[in-house]
Amino acid sequence: MNVTRFAPSPTGLLHLGHAFAALAAAEAGDRFLLRIEDIDRARARAEYETAIYEDLAWLGLDWEKPVLRQSERMEAYGEALAFLGSRGLLYPCFCTRREIADEITRSAEAPHGPDGPLYPGTCRGLSETERAERFLGGISFALRLDAAKAAAMTGQLFFEEQGTGPHGEHGRIAVDPLAFGDVVLARKETPTSYHLAVVVDDAYQGVTLVTRGNDLFAAAHIQRLLQALLELPAPAYAHHRLILDDAGRKFSKRDRAVTLRSLRETGATPEDVRRRVGF
Ligand code: GLU
Repeated sequence: MNVTRFAPSPTGLLHLGHAFAALAAAEAGDRFLLRIEDIDRARARAEYETAIYEDLAWLGLDWEKPVLRQSERMEAYGEALAFLGSRGLLYPCFCTRREIADEITRSAEAPHGPDGPLYPGTCRGLSETERAERFLGGISFALRLDAAKAAAMTGQLFFEEQGTGPHGEHGRIAVDPLAFGDVVLARKETPTSYHLAVVVDDAYQGVTLVTRGNDLFAAAHIQRLLQALLELPAPAYAHHRLILDDAGRKFSKRDRAVTLRSLRETGATPEDVRRRVGF
């Protein structure tokens, strides 16, 4: 029995790409859940959340209630973070974005991850005294995962890909625990990160099959690592192709013409949308 979820962020109107992702998740799930990923309080808006419900219902989808909202789950993310901290897997990073960029420019080799250059590890080796000084100085900090330490703790991990990654990846995939480097798991203004929240909530909601666009395929590496570190069950993955615009680009929130709302308002039917995304 597959439990799937569609997990949009209410930071804009849903477009054709979302329609495909939601339809794919609903089709693959014996149980289909909806999760509102609204941890970015600066960008999330209530009106977009309302529009998500309207658009999905119009498409003919039905999901289990109540819907999980990540903004209401900060305590759970805090507990997960504390657990990782108690295992010695986190360290405070006091670098500004500017300092990180400068450090990367200076270093001879700057390994890249899916989200850009990897953090060079500047704050990993700070002594307790140096940390204490910075805390006392009130410097804002982020909590980073010590990825090498994490990898040593878990040993080789795998995840199961039932769909296809962007390069045809399928089947049992060996996790690269260093893919994202020492990724940020929490910041002062957002006490969780996307990866941490997703992993905690997929487990909490009993999701067994994560379906989503293959632009997030790489994220499965770090998410599988976090599942192991947090001693959570590992869901399988079914990454799918992306719905692209005529120029072969991903739709963005700015493409108003392909929002489900404007398609609906200009007379498209749910069947038209399904057909247009190849369903
Ligand atoms: N909230 C993410 C997005 O809108 C999706 C997260 C996921 O499916 O893991 O792109």
